[in-house]
Amino acid sequence: MRILRTLCVFCGAATPHDPRFARAMMALGDELLRRRIGLVYGGGRVGLMGIVAEQVLRGGGHVTGVIPHQLQRREVANLDVSELVVVDSMHERKAIMYERSDAFVVMPGGFGTLDEAMEILTWKQLGVHDKPIVFVSIDGYYAPLEAFFERAVGDGLLKEMYAKLYHFVPTLDALWTYLDRYEPHKEGITPWV
Ligand code: AMP
Repeated sequence: MRILRTLCVFCGAATPHDPRFARAMMALGDELLRRRIGLVYGGGRVGLMGIVAEQVLRGGGHVTGVIPHQLQRREVANLDVSELVVVDSMHERKAIMYERSDAFVVMPGGFGTLDEAMEILTWKQLGVHDKPIVFVSIDGYYAPLEAFFERAVGDGLLKEMYAKLYHFVPTLDALWTYLDRYEPHKEGITPWV
């Protein structure tokens, strides 16, 4: 990918039991710093999202947090970020995260993470954008989702050409390899009109 200035990270607002997930968030933050890529995320201090933001801020990197005002208390809005965008709704949060980012990375998370990932995927399916969307399967976390997508293609519920709209990688190294080589491909996808 020629230009990767900002990376949006979707991930859990919870802290999982397995410390490998937290370590992966720190390693992701370190690589963002090394590459001077800005982080765009949900703006809270809690859970996995708090860990990646803290890591980037500690290293002097640029962090944009986007948080609905209703969630400022619940997700402990991080007032130390480079820019905190306080919005009125979850929809606006996703729209701004989308606008501000050159690529999307889905790290382990729950319903909220899946919601964000699915929405950005459906926008790509409609041809609204052609930015990379990568699921990072730390410890095989997203293997069942990858299998589900394959099943949906197999059953004819997901067109085969849509299978190239997303990518699953097993490690962060594989994430960067994929992003470095990413070429936008819009062929065959109905453009947004
Ligand atoms: P979770 O994966 O459930 O831990 O949630 C991760 C993040 O997604 C949290 O910051 C949630 O506030 C956020 N989230 C949950 N639902 C939505 C939604 N509909 N739109 C945007 N963000 C959401």
